[in-house]
Amino acid sequence: MAYNEHAACPCGSKKSYKNCCKIFHEGKYPQTAVELMKSRFSAFVVGNIDYIISTTHEDNIEYSENKSKWREDLQNVISSNDFYSLEILDFIDGKEESYVTFKVGIKQRGLDVSFTEKSKFLKIDGKWLYRSGEFLDD
Ligand SMILES: [Zn+2]
Repeated sequence: MAYNEHAACPCGSKKSYKNCCKIFHEGKYPQTAVELMKSRFSAFVVGNIDYIISTTHEDNIEYSENKSKWREDLQNVISSNDFYSLEILDFIDGKEESYVTFKVGIKQRGLDVSFTEKSKFLKIDGKWLYRSGEFLDD
């Protein structure tokens, strides 16, 4: 099911999806790692698997050369989880290396499986990519 582009953007910006993360999903590079983080979260909500794959660094633990298997795994994650909120807690900006700490609200069949993560992003050839993440205690 397509996400209503006039609805509030899933990333919590209070803009419409059309005027927020959809711009990145359609090809514009995020200027900052926070924008990338938010647009990746939105991609999980709207089900844009290509975007999640294309913004994952090849050294990330989730990265796979087997794209069809990876797509299938992501589809399973998307269909079995309800990504309901995103809260940015901290942002360490850098030219080519940035860190974003965030809390993501997720429900899995009614069960709350929300977590807090500190993610590392690298800028490669002008494009921010998700490199790795570590879980933090709330
Ligand atoms: Zn957004």
